This record gives sequence, C-alpha cells and structure tokens, in this order.
Amino acid sequence: MLDAKQSEQTWAVILHGGCKPLKTSEVEPNREGLQDALAEAVAVLSSGGSALDAVEAAVRAMEDDPTFNAGRGSKTNAEGEVECDASIMDGETLELGAVCVLKDTLHPVSVARALMPETETLLAGEGAYRFAQRRGLAQPGIGKTLAAAGEGTTTVGCVAMDQQGRLAAATSTGGTGGSKPGRVGDSPLPGLGVYANKAGAISATGQGESIARAMLGARCVIAMENGMSPQEGVDHALTFLGGLPPHSGMIALDAQGRIGWAFTGDQMTVAMATSEAPDLRIEIAGLENAEDA
Ligand code: ASP
Repeated sequence: MLDAKQSEQTWAVILHGGCKPLKTSEVEPNREGLQDALAEAVAVLSSGGSALDAVEAAVRAMEDDPTFNAGRGSKTNAEGEVECDASIMDGETLELGAVCVLKDTLHPVSVARALMPETETLLAGEGAYRFAQRRGLAQPGIGKTLAAAGEGTTTVGCVAMDQQGRLAAATSTGGTGGSKPGRVGDSPLPGLGVYANKAGAISATGQGESIARAMLGARCVIAMENGMSPQEGVDHALTFLGGLPPHSGMIALDAQGRIGWAFTGDQMTVAMATSEAPDLRIEIAGLENAEDA
C-alpha cells in the first residue's frame, strides 16, 4: 500500500488496470500496458495540459490495448456480444459524460467525453451508439471482431490533478463478462465507479453490483470532503463492502495531489506518478496470488 504523500504536488496521476486475479502469463502485458498509459497521462500533465485530457489519454491507451477489459479487449456478454460502459468527469466544473451498453465503439471514454457539454450525462445502448456515430466515434461492425479476438483481463480507470489544481476521473470497461445483455455495472455511474469534484476524484473497479450496493465511490469522495486523506478514504469506503462478493478496488486523489488506493480480493494493478516523484511507478499488488497459465 502506498503511503499518502504529505507534501503538495504540482501534478499527480494514478490509474488502475482492475482488480481481477491475473494469470502469470498476463502479468507482464498488464505491466507494459499500465506503463504506456501512465506515460500518456504524464506527458499531458508535465507539459501543463488538463487533468481531463490526461485521464482521457490514459484510458484511451488502455482501451487500445487488448490486454485490458475495455475497448479493444472488452469481455463479451452471455450472448457473445461486446457492450461497453465508460465515464469521465471534470472535478472543477462537475461536467460529466457517460455511456453504457455501447456497442461497436473502440473508445467509449471519448464518446463519454463528447457528451460532457451536453444536457444529458448518460446515454445507453442504441442512443449512445447513435450519438457516437454522429460524432464520428463509432466503428460499425467492430464489436464482432472484438468478440472474436478474445478478452482482456481487467477494467481500467484513471484520476489526475493538473498544474492548475483541477481534478478529473475516467473509467472504462467491457463489464464482468458472461452477464445478461443490457447489464450495466458501476463504471458509468457517478458516485459508484467514477466521480470528481474539487475535493477529490475516484475510479473504482470490481463487481459492479457490490460497488453499487456499498455506494463505494460516493463514500470515498465524501470522506475526502470531510478531511480524510485519499488513502483513509478508500480504506473507509471498502469497509462498506462487508460480506459482498470480493474483488473490488478503488484509486483516489485529493486536491493536494495525495494518492490512495486499496482493494479486496487477490490482486490489483495500479500505476502512478507525481511531480515530486515523476518516475513511473507500477504496482501489481498480490502478485503472489497470480495463477499459473
Ligand atoms: N466494475 C466493472 C463492472 O462491474 C467490472 C470490473 O471492474 O472488473 O462492470
């Protein structure tokens, strides 16, 4: 577990590649994918770009990488179809964009971003797809090739603070795999799998139904509003999972650029960097639990 940094950061970012147990053969591709995604976010933040651009760039990189259960590597539902959920939120303005049950789209997070200035905060299914098409962000028919190509391991998310102190969060997933068509998890829902305001930003991963029942994201953000550090906030939120099915985790960042993350279950992958410690740091917690393959 990372100790929360006490000193103020100019910029900071932490991302996750989910908290599902990895097979030994999946560890290295996950590490490389996290590193590439983190490098994208750091390039944006260190050159003075916005937290919003940074989280979108990191999540897009992981959506492009078939290693992860998002975009290209999305899992399939019980009928063999890919249905994606994604969200992005600006902590400064509370602008939010989210999509769910979105088909035939490589970068659901960018469709969510395109929705941010609109009145609606969440579009589902056919409506989300038509919006993606109108914005030139749909790839008709690609879902079939994604489903045929196999499935990535884990959901992705990123939270960042930029040099102007603005926070942002983004989450993207192909869901839990094998679920009923139309199932929506926590990832596109503010206060569950994503949230950002001026006090803090979070992205969650794990069993969406458990995350919803425990109201995971909101618990952590409210804890940070009430003065807890991000590490205290995630630890506090996860206690509400109680006996609910395991494999849930969360990353968090506050307005001082302090970082926190925690998980239940066997494993969680995270990557982080700050202006004080700009070297890319990748952590695969629970590596000893990796299953042979
Ligand atoms: N939270 C995602 C969902 O329930 C899945 C995951 O994070 O692995 O859709």
